[in-house]
Amino acid sequence: MATTDRLGRVVRDLRISVTDRCNFRCVYCMPKEVFGSSYRFLGRSEVLTFEEIERVARAFVDNGVTKIRLTGGEPLVRRDIERLVERLAAIDGVDDLTMTTNGVLLPQKARALADAGLTRVTVSLDALDDATFQAMNDVGVPVAKVIEGIEAAVSAGLGPVKVNAVVKRGLNEHAIIQLADRFRGTAVTVRYIEFMDVGTTNGWNLADVLPAQEVIDRIGARWPLDPVGRTTPGEVAARWRYRDGAGEIGVISSVTQPFCGACTRARISADGTLYTCLFAAAGHDLRSLLRDGSTGTLEARIAAVWRGRSDRYSELRAAATTSSARVEMSAIGG
Ligand code: SAM
Ligand code: SF4
Ligand code: SF4
Repeated sequence: MATTDRLGRVVRDLRISVTDRCNFRCVYCMPKEVFGSSYRFLGRSEVLTFEEIERVARAFVDNGVTKIRLTGGEPLVRRDIERLVERLAAIDGVDDLTMTTNGVLLPQKARALADAGLTRVTVSLDALDDATFQAMNDVGVPVAKVIEGIEAAVSAGLGPVKVNAVVKRGLNEHAIIQLADRFRGTAVTVRYIEFMDVGTTNGWNLADVLPAQEVIDRIGARWPLDPVGRTTPGEVAARWRYRDGAGEIGVISSVTQPFCGACTRARISADGTLYTCLFAAAGHDLRSLLRDGSTGTLEARIAAVWRGRSDRYSELRAAATTSSARVEMSAIGG
């Protein structure tokens, strides 16, 4: 039976952050000034084990979850991640098991992930020119490395592959058309994400947000687009189809056109904290329960937290004052 929150929303999607570490330092997510050599990442004993993650996932499935996404930090830096995929793929009731990754380790990992039962991957790529991409990932990784990852995912059958691009005004606007051009007519769908005020370390400013409608207008002026509409409830991307039959794009307008009313997502950070909103100031500790209590208690705890949920941060954003203590994107994985 699906558990419902105070606004009538079920819990359908679970996003599991498997590590708070990453091999990138994207300026909008883990800026070097904050996530530098003195930053204290979680210690090994603080991070949930695969066995614990599986128990959490099963407890969520008992509450109605059918879709699981692995994220991070960078999920592919977690050693033997395919062993976790195998465990999660074996849970009855999980019909979609996906991963969001920066893609650089996919050439080594795509085949093992597909064999383990991963359904699809989403690869993040914000630009197609090295100067912009390297300025954004801030560790000097060239675009070609990510393209190799995307190709490895496609040939391993981890498709349809989606590419996520965060658009920050003045930084990678030119990538909007370039990405559309590069992936039109392929099996890869590009999804443009509005730059969000997640956490408190990325220096967010409303002026940096390039509204999704502007993305549609710019691409549509070059290649006419028709709206497709959301196919599944809770789907975050608004989909648009090229009129000439060259496929689709998506836009995720979390800032300018919030979709909290249909938000069915729960998030678990790598240390086992449950967040009921991407912009939550505080979470709910599940790790202590996992380590001290019974699994039965875990299911009931999740149900109780979800029933009490009333988050709709994006809808309230305009009126909200800046919080001083929001969870970071790299901790809960987007
Ligand atoms: N490391 C993986 C990756 O980059 O795909 C998974 C974790 S990352 C936090 C998940 C997604 O969040 C990525 O697509 C990333 O671009 C997006 N993201 C991170 N910070 C963001 C922000 N401030 N606004 C919008 N999207 C953001
Ligand atoms: Fe790492 Fe992903 Fe954040 Fe970039 S967006 S720093 S790849 S976690
Ligand atoms: Fe869901 Fe919170 Fe985002 Fe609204 S702001 S869509 S409730 S995660």
